[in-house]
Amino acid sequence: MEEVKVSFLIPCFNESGNIDKIYEKIANDFSGEAIQLVFVDDGSKDNTIAEIKELSRKHDNISFVSFSRNFGKEAAMLSGLKKCKGTYTALIDADLQQDPLFVKQMVQILDSNPEVDVVCAKPARRKESALKKFLKEGFYKIDNWISEVPMEQDASDFRTFRNNVKEALLSLPEYGRFSKGLFSFVGFKTQYIEYEVKEREIGVSKWSLTKLFRYAFNGIFSFSNFPLVFILYLGIVFLGAMEIVFLVSLFTHTFETCRLAMTLLFLVGVTLCMLGVVSLYLAKIYSQVKGRPIYIVKEESKDEH
Ligand code: UDP
Ligand code: MG
Repeated sequence: MEEVKVSFLIPCFNESGNIDKIYEKIANDFSGEAIQLVFVDDGSKDNTIAEIKELSRKHDNISFVSFSRNFGKEAAMLSGLKKCKGTYTALIDADLQQDPLFVKQMVQILDSNPEVDVVCAKPARRKESALKKFLKEGFYKIDNWISEVPMEQDASDFRTFRNNVKEALLSLPEYGRFSKGLFSFVGFKTQYIEYEVKEREIGVSKWSLTKLFRYAFNGIFSFSNFPLVFILYLGIVFLGAMEIVFLVSLFTHTFETCRLAMTLLFLVGVTLCMLGVVSLYLAKIYSQVKGRPIYIVKEESKDEH
């Protein structure tokens, strides 16, 4: 088989009706180019997998994985990544909200800028409820404040990247995956382009508000130990408050009246501090079990002499 230039990685959950359409669109936009389409059926309950299999019988540039149940888009992306053989990998949704023509633009940027490793699309405008928008903005603010690696606001999963980035992503073995954070963690030079999000023609969005909340919490807890360290800070605040009450009671001669409040503040403060110490160890264990590489190399000398 000739060398594949672009592998399209397409996670699909109940996308019946979109499979043929996205194939046609990509094949059309990239006619004459060596491409591969990797479909991951994330435990769909409709005809998605039958449609993918039918497509793979007709064309030899189709690879697929089918999950035993719905494991989520992150899991789908990880499994598909292992099947991508192209020089570039393009992550794209199955619902045609992301126009494959933008991948063409991303490929051109990668072709002409060897120093750029990832091209990421940011939605120019998106029709969303005010609540969803507010929650998203809040999430980015909190996350960038406490997270180990800052995240670009509104950066989508619609990206095209080189193999070094793919290998780096595959070297992260963690369970609770959060791709926006993983992309920030692996680093590499990223260029952002704007794209217009199209309306979904077939099917519905798979992201309910609860699913989004779970996703956001996963993002925060996977990339920050701050919630654990916060317990220690809280303990210190309680002990500080106790000292203030103590000093005030000395000056105002109300020691007897304040004794109960001071005892309570002291006990809660000490307990939280002890719990905080346990959390610090827990944070270290958590960092260790995530098993992330300590560094990721972008380039090095061959050293064969
Ligand atoms: N998806 C998936 N597993 C899920 C949810 C979504 O593979 O559990 C896929 C879905 O089929 C689509 C992409 O992820 O190709 C983005 O999902 P969706 O269009 O529902 O998200 P939105 O565009 O509303 O953010
Ligand atoms: Mg969509």
